[in-house]
Amino acid sequence: MTTADTQPIRNPALAALAAQPISIVTEPPGPRAKEMIARALPYLSPSLIHCYPLMVQRASGCMVEDVDGNIYFDAEAGVATASTGHCHPAVAAAIAAQAEVLIHICGTDFHYPGYGAICAKLDELARRIGPNAHHWQTFLTNSGTEAVEAAIKLVRHHTRRQGLIAFRGGFHGRTLGSLSLTASKSKYRRRFGPLLPGVFHAKYGDADSVEELFGTVASADDVAAIIVEPVLGEGGYVVPPADFLPRLRTIADRHGILLVFDEVQSGMGRTGKMFAAEHTGVVPDVMLLAKGIASGMPLGAMIARRELMTWPPGSHGSTIAGNPVAIAAGLATIELLDNELVANSARVGDTLRTALSAKLRGEPAVTEVRGVGLMIGVELMTPELAHAIANECFKRGLLVLECGSKAIRFSPPLIINDVQAVAIADLFAAVCREVRAIGAPA
Ligand code: PLP
Repeated sequence: MTTADTQPIRNPALAALAAQPISIVTEPPGPRAKEMIARALPYLSPSLIHCYPLMVQRASGCMVEDVDGNIYFDAEAGVATASTGHCHPAVAAAIAAQAEVLIHICGTDFHYPGYGAICAKLDELARRIGPNAHHWQTFLTNSGTEAVEAAIKLVRHHTRRQGLIAFRGGFHGRTLGSLSLTASKSKYRRRFGPLLPGVFHAKYGDADSVEELFGTVASADDVAAIIVEPVLGEGGYVVPPADFLPRLRTIADRHGILLVFDEVQSGMGRTGKMFAAEHTGVVPDVMLLAKGIASGMPLGAMIARRELMTWPPGSHGSTIAGNPVAIAAGLATIELLDNELVANSARVGDTLRTALSAKLRGEPAVTEVRGVGLMIGVELMTPELAHAIANECFKRGLLVLECGSKAIRFSPPLIINDVQAVAIADLFAAVCREVRAIGAPA
């Protein structure tokens, strides 16, 4: 039984939605969606992706309803963010209760109870990573990219070194500092240069390639930090070889370099452990969180060993980051994750990966099913196939996103159950067969 089952959903219409099956009543995008999207588009930044024309009315649990009454299963969870499911009643209640007493005062300049509470909670959780885990201190942010920016500033400030090593395939955000690390697709960087100097990219999964950088372009004693996703997210849902993170730890220690784990996507239970770092026991010096930490409220965190937090008051801050309402959502989310949803992620993640592997076995469109917990990637033969399959899934009521150059990612809410996992694997396999049979556009 999941928390979603034990917590009453107060709005009966939302409760009903969470229990609905997929239901496509009019081919999406339906007439209302088409009309509303056409009305909105002239006012929107064209940089937004809009991978398919979904106009969401409301969402509950794993289900999303569009403005035409179509009901979808959300196997992407608002890009791996609605960790406790959409509008979890405990999270919604925490948000509502906090909004009645204090929405904002500025955590950079003043104290309020939630800020300390969530930082203490993150310390408690991070101490579980491994035997050598530290005492952690936290700087809260509004987003993943802000957590990355904070890390770049902290590691430079603390080490008095400038160099940064990231990995090809990595995604760390879109602001100029984090974008300098991002190397998953060149479209993110095109025409935005010059980016930060002193950033070098090694090959993901290959610790030797870091040593090669030291020998060729990046003197190790100029390097402040190695920044890495423990499981590659936007770059393709790739689990690195088992020795990769331990070797990065050794290399970093040898050269006095800090090791930063960007767990913005892989953290908060997504991989079946609270942090992906727990799979290896490798303890980073800095860890970055966002996405699933507050079920979709804007909250991120840059947590670091206490000894590294040597920057003085005023050296970094934010007006809104860690606002009381986002923190209330975060605390409620973390309680749900820690009580049962992380374990559910591991268990149902196995079910989903096994079901996808079984149902896609022999399917010529698919070259690999991979992943850990509820961070599962399906690699297709071509980018065109991946795109066509994601679109057809949408039309059939299954929301998935692409990643890497030709993969599809499954990152459903961590409340998903076994029956739902098998059902979406079935539907996905059927879509793969049909799209391949009719021939995806070349
Ligand atoms: N880091 C990783 C690993 C991510 O996956 C993302 C977003 O997808 C980010 C950083 C940036 O987070 P945000 O979009 O909240 O700025």
